[in-house]
Amino acid sequence: MLVMMKSHATGEEIDAVCRKIEAMGFKAHPIPGSTRTAIGITGNQEPIEAAAIECLPGVGECVPVSKPYKLVGRELKEETTVIDLGDGVRIGGPELAIIAGPCAVENREQARTIAAGVAAAGARLFRGGAYKPRTSPYSFQGLAEDGLKILEDVRREFGLKIVTEAIDVESVDLVERYSDVIQIGARNMQNFSLLKRAGKSRRPVLLKRGISATLDELLMAAEYILSEGNYSVVLCERGIRTFTDHTRNTLDLSVIPAVQRLSHLPIIVDPSHGTGRREKVLPLSRAAIAVGADGLMVEVHHKPEEALSDGYQSIQPPEFRQLMEEIRQIAAVLGRTLAPKSTI
Ligand code: PEP
Ligand code: MN
Repeated sequence: MLVMMKSHATGEEIDAVCRKIEAMGFKAHPIPGSTRTAIGITGNQEPIEAAAIECLPGVGECVPVSKPYKLVGRELKEETTVIDLGDGVRIGGPELAIIAGPCAVENREQARTIAAGVAAAGARLFRGGAYKPRTSPYSFQGLAEDGLKILEDVRREFGLKIVTEAIDVESVDLVERYSDVIQIGARNMQNFSLLKRAGKSRRPVLLKRGISATLDELLMAAEYILSEGNYSVVLCERGIRTFTDHTRNTLDLSVIPAVQRLSHLPIIVDPSHGTGRREKVLPLSRAAIAVGADGLMVEVHHKPEEALSDGYQSIQPPEFRQLMEEIRQIAAVLGRTLAPKSTI
């Protein structure tokens, strides 16, 4: 059930409703909207008696939730969530969020070279795995904390926000200490203990769609994070497994408007894992922005042929510049913007 507060409800009235919900043994999730606050209720197995809440001051109405997810749905919050990372960097607002960088942090020089290239082109967020979920146990697994320290230096030197993956519950402590956004990868989309741990973090979470996940499964995975009290979740379409063999995955761009209809969470697109081929990254990036995504996550490497992972889908900094110039023009048609090229 959702409690819709009146538009002029005071902070005290909202607190009192939350206390009442907690006293009933449930969890209250107050979510401010542009006109009024809605309070989601979780933890109840049975429907809740609305009368006990509706009589409280400031309450407009109690509405049953028709969907299995309570907190990620637009029923709770009409307007899209904007995640503010500080220094003017936001995900979900009019400015597109562009996350670029290597698949994995390999060494300091590699990370710095790529960071300089993507920052100059206008990216405001840097990606790079320090913990890599690899298909083979013999493949490069990432530099772990040494990699996170390199990312911290990149943040300081280039003013880029850091997005990096936590692959299990144990790695979240370190990842949240060094990063601005915790990435949860496709293979972990239904790692429920990891989702719950990320839900207790104060860092925003980038949740990638599992390779065979339906839209409902993606939204329910996000619901795990919100239900623990972390409302800053960005969804990411990164391709699903189909019978096609001309790409690594099939980028499901039709999921973008579907998510936007059902959920207030922002959604971005990863055309690199989505296609697995560098020559497809630019055309699918154009399409992702045109379809209404809130941003992109793109793998960029200055020497893709030497990359320790995913070199065949990484574009080089000059191609990334071209990509940014093209999507800047597409964004303008849609009333969206891109950060200016930097002069660093
Ligand atoms: C990645 O972003 O490097 C990654 C491993 O992606 P995914 O989880 O989508 O495979
Ligand atoms: Mn990768």
